[in-house]
Amino acid sequence: MTQAASVVSAKDLCLTYQANDAPVHALSNVNLDVKKGDFVSFIGPSGCGKTTFLRVIADLEKKTSGTITVNGMTPEEARKARAYGYVFQAPALYPWRTIEKNIALPLEIMNYAADDRQKRIAEALDLVGLTGFEKKFPWQLSGGMQQRASIARALAFDADLLLMDEPFGALDEIVRDHLNEELLKLWARTDKTICFVTHSIPEAVYLSTKIVVMSPRPGRVTDIIDSPLPRERPLDIRETPEFLEIAHRVREGLRAGHSYEH
Ligand code: ADP
Ligand code: MG
Repeated sequence: MTQAASVVSAKDLCLTYQANDAPVHALSNVNLDVKKGDFVSFIGPSGCGKTTFLRVIADLEKKTSGTITVNGMTPEEARKARAYGYVFQAPALYPWRTIEKNIALPLEIMNYAADDRQKRIAEALDLVGLTGFEKKFPWQLSGGMQQRASIARALAFDADLLLMDEPFGALDEIVRDHLNEELLKLWARTDKTICFVTHSIPEAVYLSTKIVVMSPRPGRVTDIIDSPLPRERPLDIRETPEFLEIAHRVREGLRAGHSYEH
């Protein structure tokens, strides 16, 4: 088998925010290689640099030192080539736009033709199971459906890389379980590469092919776990010994990172 291409490659990546009082070392010597088709979760306590790392990939923050490439390009080149879709923690849908008009917005900005836009919106809504809700306004949908609409918006221009920052963090566990299953199916169907931030150990283990455990002050990677679980995962895989073993290793990694502070 040939080696899959690197979608995100970070070497000794550092980012220091120059705050007023003292510099904040948000990322310190991060080394990571994300391959095409990977589902990578970033897990760690608040402030360990998870959002910062996604923002560096997306060219929303500039690294201080080290190297990072996205699809073999600089983050700026990748952004201009529309290499990624970004799903924020809150759905961030405009309340005065219908669901289809919300999804259309980035396509309008990118100058997609009207008929192409309609086709892409229909496909994206189908992928997230929201066909039939085109004309609804965000406030007419549940929290889970709103988050699915924001995923559809990130999917509509068909980037190979999806960056998701705690997309299901605000949802209850039952809805989250359902969306986790749906996201895995979507990933399997579209062959995208996904970088996913979460606070939840079961969510990270259930979804990922690779789990990146991080710790704060300075923000750094303490463990990278390549999951031995099969790509096809029914929810009850969470009760298997293999699953629990990985969850245990993640918990140990988080604990080791925590004790560093004291
Ligand atoms: P996480 O997403 O893991 O909670 P962040 O990447 O948001 O962590 O933040 C990492 C660290 O950088 C935190 O200590 C945070 O307070 C700090 N930070 C984030 N953004 C800025 C900024 N724009 N200016 C200064 N410090 C920041
Ligand atoms: Mg964050």
